[in-house]
Amino acid sequence: MCAHPAATANSKKANRRRVVFNNGGIVRTVSEGLAAVSIEQGVLYVVATPIGNLQDLSPRARQVLGDVDVVFAEDTRVSARLLNHFGIATPLLPFHQHNERRVCPGVVRRLAARQSVALICDAGTPLISDPGYHLVQAVRAAGYKLCSIPGPCAIVASLAVAGLPTDRFVFEGFLPPRRPARRDRLSVLRHEQRTLVVYEVPHRVRDCVADMNELFGADRRVTLARELTKIYEETFAGTLRGLSEWLQEKARVQGEIVIVVAGAAGDAHDHERLRHSVATLLKYLPARQAVAAATEISGANKNQIYRLMLEIASHSVAEDGKPEESAGSCNSGEISTN
Ligand code: SAM
Repeated sequence: MCAHPAATANSKKANRRRVVFNNGGIVRTVSEGLAAVSIEQGVLYVVATPIGNLQDLSPRARQVLGDVDVVFAEDTRVSARLLNHFGIATPLLPFHQHNERRVCPGVVRRLAARQSVALICDAGTPLISDPGYHLVQAVRAAGYKLCSIPGPCAIVASLAVAGLPTDRFVFEGFLPPRRPARRDRLSVLRHEQRTLVVYEVPHRVRDCVADMNELFGADRRVTLARELTKIYEETFAGTLRGLSEWLQEKARVQGEIVIVVAGAAGDAHDHERLRHSVATLLKYLPARQAVAAATEISGANKNQIYRLMLEIASHSVAEDGKPEESAGSCNSGEISTN
């Protein structure tokens, strides 16, 4: 049962509405007019905190941080400011990339002792380019419950205003800081068709955008989001060429930055490659298996592959006046496009 001063202080406020259960490990339900929050014993709460604007801390996150026994934080001085702002006095303990593995067993012992624990990072969602992965793994392996308290994350905040496709995207975290390694990575990503999201630091952003210009082409669409939710929040949306110029015009680039780049256009070359793969598979496999294999290998839509297959079949009929013999004859009627 939680008994630290913060929990007591918070509980006093809500005492009249406090409900205590002994089943299922729920120790108290604190209701402050909105949805009730149940703090459970032996649970690790992974809590998202604001990426700038303190008002973005959700009421649920606030209650969890106030009611757990201890909060593990990346930089306790940074998080102390957040907790003080909300009048939360829960003890803070350090949890960062240099002590993460060392601290994990202690956190698991706390859960075994039926304490409730929260994990936060300096800003945003823990584990997203921030520590926490090893801890979550350790807690899972030890069989304790995890609870995600979702909220701000710079990936989603930037995608929401980028004006680029969001149906599919890839997050690359921070690109390698050194130029050769960064260029290698960008070369791998140049044909990526999904929207690309990267985090970048101000002193490398010009070099990074210069490399993108060269490797992705200056006309590729891009949005740079800087200082989201903060006083100097701004976004640039245009081409990579335009972004380079915009950055050159600035005396200094400061703050927190996300770069969102449009995916490579699917071109005729891709279509030709896919057509060739389907034609090859049809030589060796029955139609149903050829479609399944081509769909799995290419990641393309099954109906698209099916249409390609019909196109290939009709061409082979047109060329010699009779259907070409192939393992994958599509006259078998056994294909379902569902
Ligand atoms: N865990 C965080 C999250 O959920 O987004 C990310 C932490 S990572 C160490 C810090 C990077 O996130 C920054 O260098 C920047 O790329 C991005 N970032 C964080 N806050 C931001 C903001 N307010 N505006 C733009 N980018 C931000």
